[in-house]
Amino acid sequence: MLQDRFGRRVDYVRLSVTDRCDLRCSYCIPKGFKDFAEPDNWLTFDEIERVMAVFVRLGTRRVRLTGGEPLLRRGVIELAGRLAALPGLTDLSLSTNGTQLAQYAGRLKAAGVARLNVSLDSLRRDCMAEVTGRDSLPQVLAGLMAAKQAGLTPIKINMVAMNGVNADDIESMVAFCIEHQFILRLIEAMPMGDSGRSAAYLDLQPVLAGLRRRFGLQAHTATLGGGPANYWGTADGRFTLGVITPISQHFCATCNRVRLSVEGTLYLCLGQEASVPLRPLLRQGISDAGLEAVIRQAIERKPERHVFTEAPSQIVRIMAKTGG
Ligand code: SAM
Repeated sequence: MLQDRFGRRVDYVRLSVTDRCDLRCSYCIPKGFKDFAEPDNWLTFDEIERVMAVFVRLGTRRVRLTGGEPLLRRGVIELAGRLAALPGLTDLSLSTNGTQLAQYAGRLKAAGVARLNVSLDSLRRDCMAEVTGRDSLPQVLAGLMAAKQAGLTPIKINMVAMNGVNADDIESMVAFCIEHQFILRLIEAMPMGDSGRSAAYLDLQPVLAGLRRRFGLQAHTATLGGGPANYWGTADGRFTLGVITPISQHFCATCNRVRLSVEGTLYLCLGQEASVPLRPLLRQGISDAGLEAVIRQAIERKPERHVFTEAPSQIVRIMAKTGG
């Protein structure tokens, strides 16, 4: 088992398979951004499988494929199948912007991806175009319906809620999620990079209070997916809401995860720079035992908490680089 010096068990890896994306969400990749990883520096599937096998031997039970947009990495279905086959891995999931999902949903399910998070910030076409940098809504909705049809479940909708941008769309998103039995997750914008810092922050505490009153939501006792969201639901199970509040109420004390970037850098905290580059070690021929030792030492260095509030300018990495 991997345990850090604060007694937190780390059993969850978010694995970025590319830092590239076909969207330019206003809070994520800046327009004109060019500083993407060079293909020679991308971990190969063999390297990824090797690192993840070591993590699984060290107690990792959950892996989420992410990015950038993970469905843009050529061969990602093959990689998903290889990871799903690792003995001991019990939960393989994927975060996607949904644009490629219509094409991939069935194959993802067949490869062993059990569940999906899909980013969707509005159901208004113009708002989605403004937030994502292009007219993406029809494609994303088609992807979502394909995923539902393919039997991927649960499907969670990730909505970064922003003041004056899509805050008024929360109500229609709730109705959409009830209609399709999707779990809605509202996320506070994080000050990652200039793009994240310029997002119009919305405190989700009053939003949650309003939704709790309106729908009679009760706190879920069971965790749904081992992530940072607090979940709430109606007694009849008709509507489930997750809220991710890194700013208004941080959840670092229960953080159970690390992130591996496409370049093989292990990031120990979303909101701190602490990291360990694994790629050079892999390419210098480190043994599995050596890799285990490096990962154990890295986990020792996991920061206690993020510094989004005290030092927002400190985090220069955008989310797509870390692996959201
Ligand atoms: N492309 C995939 C997707 O859209 O889910 C995976 C990567 S994306 C970086 C993962 C999640 O991070 C998305 O839900 C996105 O909205 C969120 N995200 C990106 N930048 C963020 C920021 N500054 N604050 C909060 N959430 C952010």
